Amino acid sequence: MPTMGALHAGHGRLIETARRENACVVVSLFVNPIQFDRSDDYDRYPRPISNDVEFCSRMGVDFVFAPSIEEMYPRPQRAFVEVTEVSERLCGQFRPGHFRGVATVVLKLLNIVQPDRAYFGEKDAQQLAVIRRMTADLNVPVTIVEVPTLRESDGLALSSRNQLLSPEERRIAPVLSRALEKARDLISTGETRADGIKHESLRVLNEHPEIRVEYLEIVGPEDMQLVDEITGPVRVAGAIWIGKIRLIDNILCVPGAGG
Ligand code: AMP
Repeated sequence: MPTMGALHAGHGRLIETARRENACVVVSLFVNPIQFDRSDDYDRYPRPISNDVEFCSRMGVDFVFAPSIEEMYPRPQRAFVEVTEVSERLCGQFRPGHFRGVATVVLKLLNIVQPDRAYFGEKDAQQLAVIRRMTADLNVPVTIVEVPTLRESDGLALSSRNQLLSPEERRIAPVLSRALEKARDLISTGETRADGIKHESLRVLNEHPEIRVEYLEIVGPEDMQLVDEITGPVRVAGAIWIGKIRLIDNILCVPGAGG
């Protein structure tokens, strides 16, 4: 289970799932510099290593792999994994090089640990799609397992970045999941035009002028390409800025499911 540490109950879900399904569970803790597009985000990323190790041992993890930068990148990295198309939209559009960094470090971690299964959260749905496509296209002998997003009671998806929000920002943050739920409700009651659905979701977000919307899009669940007319399952994904903190979230929506 690759993680960047600052473990919370969302990571805990992944660990529990892996614990049930495997004889041996390995968690990696590594804040991967080559996937950060902003140095302030990299510098500010929390690194509570001893808490993380304790969290892992409480949850019955067998091994924690917490390499140093020098261990992972002993010389300048010259080989990179690029997953075209899947990584272009959404976060890929706003964080240049991010998914190249993610795919590269995940392949390195898979090669080091050689797991039968690797666990990823639906919370980072584009990352999951990129990893699935990478392992399929490069014949990596691993099964990718998806784990549903764990949320706070007000809907906010658990994230290591939530702890960087001020109390006022934290109060506003659930607006992102509310906007996604709005889209899900419209899709489940038969609305098929992506434009109209996006418009309604953006209205929810715009109730809070303090936030800045980076993107809100409706995409195919596997190729992460924009969808105009909804005829099957889609993923509605958004990224917002609250102050200096960027939050992402997404939900799978199935047409007619609740109509
Ligand atoms: P990170 O440490 O942010 O790189 O996340 C490590 C793994 O935990 C990724 O596969 C994430 O998708 C997953 N994850 C993060 N937050 C959550 C959450 N709230 N629910 C489920 N999985 C999560």
